[in-house]
Amino acid sequence: MGPDLHAFPRVDLGHWPTPLDQAPRLGAALGGIRLLLKRDDVGGLGAGGNKLRKLEFLLGAALAERADSVITFGALQTNHGRQTAAACAKLGLRCDLVLTRGVPRGGADYEGSGNIALDHLYGATTHVCDDAAETAAVYQRLVAEAEAEGRTVATLPVGGSTAVGVLGYLSATVELFTQLDGLGITPDALLVPVGSAGTAAGVALAVDLLGRDVRVEGACVSHTADESRGDITRLATEAAALLGAPAPALRTLLVDDRAVGPGYGVPTEGTWDALRLFARTEGATLDPVYTGKAAACLVDRVDTGEIKAGETVVFLHTGGLPGLFAYQPETGVEARSGLGGPVPPGGSGSRTATRPSR
Ligand SMILES: *Cc1c(COP(=O)(O)O)cnc(C)c1O
Repeated sequence: MGPDLHAFPRVDLGHWPTPLDQAPRLGAALGGIRLLLKRDDVGGLGAGGNKLRKLEFLLGAALAERADSVITFGALQTNHGRQTAAACAKLGLRCDLVLTRGVPRGGADYEGSGNIALDHLYGATTHVCDDAAETAAVYQRLVAEAEAEGRTVATLPVGGSTAVGVLGYLSATVELFTQLDGLGITPDALLVPVGSAGTAAGVALAVDLLGRDVRVEGACVSHTADESRGDITRLATEAAALLGAPAPALRTLLVDDRAVGPGYGVPTEGTWDALRLFARTEGATLDPVYTGKAAACLVDRVDTGEIKAGETVVFLHTGGLPGLFAYQPETGVEARSGLGGPVPPGGSGSRTATRPSR
C-alpha cells in the first residue's frame, strides 16, 4: 500500500509500527465516540515522538550528503531538538541546537528540566538566544566554525518540516491504514496536532494519495487556522512533487485553531483539563504544548457535536512527555476544589467532574 519511498535515503530510528490502542473509557467519557490512540509517542529512540518519523528521512538525506554535523532550531523545550540530539548520538553526528526564547515562561524547570536536560544528556550543545536576530547570528557563527574545521553541516528547520520530512508522516499514515484495515476499522476522522505542519501535511497527503474518505482534522497549537492551512498545503504539495505526483486537493482537510489559546507554549485551563481527562481515563500521558491542545480541540469538537457519538476517531499521539516536566508547578497540581479525581467507569456525566471550568 502507498507510494514507493525506496528512492529516498532513510535511517532507522524507531520501532515501527507503533501501537494503535483502543481507548474505550475515554471514548465513553467523550459522549460515546470510538477513539483510538496511534502511539507515535513510543517511537523507541530518545524518549519517542513524531519527529523521529521525519528525522529518518532528513538524516538519511544528510548522511547521503556526507554531513558530519547537524544544526537545528526550536524553543527552549523543543521536542524536535531533543529527538534530533538523540538521533545524532545514535548516528555519531555532532549536534548543535539553536534555541530561541519565545515562550513567555522562565524558571529552573522551563530552562533546565524536561527536553533541555535530555538534549545535554544526549551530548548536544545548546545555544540559547533571546530573539530572532541573535538566533541568526549564532547560526552564522556555527556554520563559519564548521567550515573552518572542515566539517559538513546539515541544517534542519524548526520541527523538521520540509518536503523530505513530510515523507515520514506519509509513511506513518500508510502504516496506520494498514493497521486499521487489518482490524476492519474505517475511521471517520484522524485528529492531528499542527505546529510546524509537517506532520499534518504527511497525514493529509497520504489520505489524498490513498484516496481514503476520512476527515483530517488539524488542531493548531501555535498559528491561526489560515496560516496553518497554508503551511500544510505548501508542504503537502512540495512532498507530492518529490514523488512526481500532482498537487493534492486535500478535500477532507479541516484546520481548527480554537484550542491555541494565548499562543505557542502557553497552555490554557482547557489544555490541562483535556490532559487530565486522557490521563485519568486511559493512563495516557499528553503534553501541555501540543497533544494537550489537540485533546482540548477534540473535547470541544465533541461537545459542539462537530464530532458525533458513534464516530470513529484516531487521535495521533505525537509525544512530548519530557516537556510535561518543564511545566511545573501546573503539571503536579492536585485537582482543584476536590473535583477531578479518577473518572469512574462509563458515562459522559462523569467527565464534567474533571472540567469544572466549563
Ligand atoms: C512537533 C510536535 C508536534 C507538531 O508537529 P508538526 O509537524 O511540527 O506540526 C506535535 N506534537 C509534538 C509532541 C511535537 O513535538
